[in-house]
Amino acid sequence: MFDFKRHTGIQAPTGGDLHCQGWGQEGALRMLMNNLDERVGENPAQLIVYGGRGRAARSWEAYDKIVETLLSLGNDETLMIQSGKPVAVFKTQPTAPRVLIANANLVGKWANLEEFNRLEKMGLTMYGQMTAGSWIYIGTQGVIQGTYESLAALSDKYFDGSLRHRMYVTAGLGGMGGAQPLAAKMLDGVALIAEIDAHRIQRRLDSGYLDVAEESIPQAVSVALKARADGQTLTVGVHCHANELLQYLIDENIVPDVLSDQTAAHDPLVGYIPDGFDIADAARLRQQDPTHYLQLARTSIARHVERMLVLQRRGAQTFDYGNNIRREAFDQGVQDAFDIEGYVPAYIRDLFSQGKGPFRWAVLSGKPEEIYRLDDLALQMFGDNKLLRRWLTLARKHIQFQGLPARIAYMGQGERDTFALKVNELVATGELSAPVVFGRDHHDTGSVASPYRETEAMQDGSDAIADWPILNALLNVASGAHWVAFHHGGGTGIGYSLHAGANTVADGSDDSAGRLARVLWNDPGLGVVRHADAGYVLAEKTLAAHSDRIRTPLLGGNAAKP
Ligand code: NAD
Repeated sequence: MFDFKRHTGIQAPTGGDLHCQGWGQEGALRMLMNNLDERVGENPAQLIVYGGRGRAARSWEAYDKIVETLLSLGNDETLMIQSGKPVAVFKTQPTAPRVLIANANLVGKWANLEEFNRLEKMGLTMYGQMTAGSWIYIGTQGVIQGTYESLAALSDKYFDGSLRHRMYVTAGLGGMGGAQPLAAKMLDGVALIAEIDAHRIQRRLDSGYLDVAEESIPQAVSVALKARADGQTLTVGVHCHANELLQYLIDENIVPDVLSDQTAAHDPLVGYIPDGFDIADAARLRQQDPTHYLQLARTSIARHVERMLVLQRRGAQTFDYGNNIRREAFDQGVQDAFDIEGYVPAYIRDLFSQGKGPFRWAVLSGKPEEIYRLDDLALQMFGDNKLLRRWLTLARKHIQFQGLPARIAYMGQGERDTFALKVNELVATGELSAPVVFGRDHHDTGSVASPYRETEAMQDGSDAIADWPILNALLNVASGAHWVAFHHGGGTGIGYSLHAGANTVADGSDDSAGRLARVLWNDPGLGVVRHADAGYVLAEKTLAAHSDRIRTPLLGGNAAKP
């Protein structure tokens, strides 16, 4: 008998035996548990998965009830989750989603961090980040391709396609930030990363993402500079505040080649440690006087961005990596904060225009060899997709699995569905020993409105239009994804984003095949439509190539094209 009642040492069951009434429920249950696996989530004891306080469930009581309900949920029922709390089960129909999730949503006028904190304290809401509250986080391996593709695009633009003899300086080695050293390593560069929490440094050393850790800033900088000069690949974590590292570089007139940041600055109360504080002191002040804490954190963030701007002016290729640090600094009076460019318009939007985004799959068998089998299948099916081939080859070499073996791959329109249908056949024939979950980050082509990240600087000015992620969630429900989520505040923080997620299980059945065919075509398809409507030529071309399967009665023309 599997023990579903644990609160520590949680690991999802593996293999082909069902504990629930269907694989839709079982997939959701296993991925929820996987989010809280100590090898996957950042702080499972507090139900925190990643990204500041991104949680999987509102409380342990809520978690227990979710698990219990999924175990008994019928194949014509749907469980409703309101900000991490299971509130009801309704009779729906067999092809409907088995779980619908809404996290952290607030009415516009009330959509600010202070109000959210108040409501959270009252026990009424929960921050779900993106994949934490929608149960499809797969650890640092989930963001690594986005980090790699961004740095690869930057290297193509400025450094002949490689980071050899280049130094990437950044901060934050959390759930997402922890991917930065590995991405730099994949491009043969040197990474130097400030992290205030020694445990996070140790975690990245254990996973092999970091090569060395240093307590002393001069020592860390010297080791990194030597590696840069020698053309050696090296990733160095330094135990300090981001501002201390940047100030040292400024004082010594050392200019990084590339500069960014991945502290969880989108949530200054939980995700950013103020200057002069260690983790324990910060935790105390946060508890005793959150208002003072917020002031100190915001002042430190302003200093942080000012220092990034100094290094940018001295020649560092500097970009914002999706944590809203520019806006936090701008609000503290750093008027040129937005001189730092956002990574989506710079490096990712062309991918979105082709329906490409952080698509992922996890094998419920728990067997790594089944991921390798699927790598081979993807290479066989899409071998002429250069980006995918390069990525899968690197991923296989460098990425350690965390929890349920999983793979991320930026697949585009027409690739996600054909691949998943083939996988469904392999499950049906028994070539794979258990079903496979297909899901994605909310950071995808048509599923998010986030004016300081995914929809920054849209060319028709539609950055803050949030109809698209709502349509995305509704379309995924209509298409029969097994679980669908709609959240507020992921990535860039409360008040700054709305986004949706959808996940579907390939269990080898005809029912799964129908769901996968609909969801994995329609979901990226709406993203392509969103970008074509905004006038992106690449999206228009992608649509034209698929005009037999997506009809667009009235598109574009919302604003004059540049
Ligand atoms: P996390 O909370 O797991 O980790 C943040 C890390 O920053 C922690 O290890 C913390 O100790 C460290 N830190 C905080 N203040 C610091 C300081 N002043 N100096 C040095 N280190 C400090 O968060 P995460 O999951 O790694 O996400 C980081 C940020 O990236 C978040 O804002 C998140 O929303 C954003 N994000 C970006 C992407 C993307 O694709 N670009 C994707 C998801 C999330």
